[in-house]
Amino acid sequence: MSEKRKSIKKIGVFTSGGDAPGMNAAVRAVTRAALANKLEVYGIRRGYQGMIEGDIIRLYSHDVSHIMNLGGTFLQTARSSEFRTEEGRAKAYQHLKEFGIDAVVVIGGDGSFRGALDFTQEYDIPFVGIPGTIDNDMYGTDYTIGFDTALNTVIQAVDKIKDTASSHGRIFFVEVMGREAGQLALNAGIACGAEVIFIPEIHSEEVELEKFLSKGFKNKKYSGIVMVAEGDTAGGAFKIAEKVQIKHPEIEVRVSILGHMQRGGSPSAVDRIAATQMGVAAVEALLDDQKSVMIGLKNDSIVHVPLQKVVKMNRGVDNNMLNLQKVINSV
Ligand code: ATP
Repeated sequence: MSEKRKSIKKIGVFTSGGDAPGMNAAVRAVTRAALANKLEVYGIRRGYQGMIEGDIIRLYSHDVSHIMNLGGTFLQTARSSEFRTEEGRAKAYQHLKEFGIDAVVVIGGDGSFRGALDFTQEYDIPFVGIPGTIDNDMYGTDYTIGFDTALNTVIQAVDKIKDTASSHGRIFFVEVMGREAGQLALNAGIACGAEVIFIPEIHSEEVELEKFLSKGFKNKKYSGIVMVAEGDTAGGAFKIAEKVQIKHPEIEVRVSILGHMQRGGSPSAVDRIAATQMGVAAVEALLDDQKSVMIGLKNDSIVHVPLQKVVKMNRGVDNNMLNLQKVINSV
């Protein structure tokens, strides 16, 4: 404790980029851990935009009571094009100085971490990141806050779709979020027993789909789920379904785009616990004089990953998960 950074007295915390369930739990953990270390805590509202506008509020312990169970982010979030400019970052710095904030925790995705890197190259205020995105697409961590809740939301929705798909003997193409990453689609596909999973990282799904359509129907399987990641290179659920319909007019095809429901809802136990672990670790890291690192979870342990690495590297997909899908659907 004696070696810990003495110069930090006031800490700022904010959420940025896309919202994710569990962000509130992370803000709560950062706030409480900072207060436990006798620091003042400031919540910066609406991400980098709030920093630029000085939309900053003091946070006390009671301000973060009863927020752990809430989806979204009570500090709100935003995408700020102004922060991408030197002028915007200069305004943000002025406001941090005005409030006396001398260290910051940013909860968001890789874009938010790019912003943090730009800022810390120009100004001497340390930033530590917590990965918050339903996409689970970040390098250096097994897990990002929000992923588990979103996954469970998709599973619940697809279970319902399966009821109607089997009743009518239809093939449903279900499109899930994840941007350029297939983590959500792949995991949801496995958890829902999807026949085929389209993800941006793999390019052989159309062949797999054709195999299923011919083999599946011969095996008297008249309904099915095809999981499609929104960023898949085949062009999305509607396009894939349209192609199938043209080639197989005898098959009844439907499309369901799950959309923003995937981002909402009360966070799961996994998200709440991960957010709490990471929130406390972020404050500890700042007190230990660390900067420009992301707090991650690797094999259930806290790790510190340089933000430079996080924004440069791709996470990729887990080959074991791809193999699982192959084995299950090979018969
Ligand atoms: P999600 O993964 O949920 O989309 P994200 O953090 O990647 O979250 P972005 O919209 O990419 O979301 O980034 C959030 C904000 O970070 C941007 O609106 C912008 O203000 C800031 N930002 C992103 N990239 C940069 C950059 N290169 N320089 C400065 N600021 C940036």
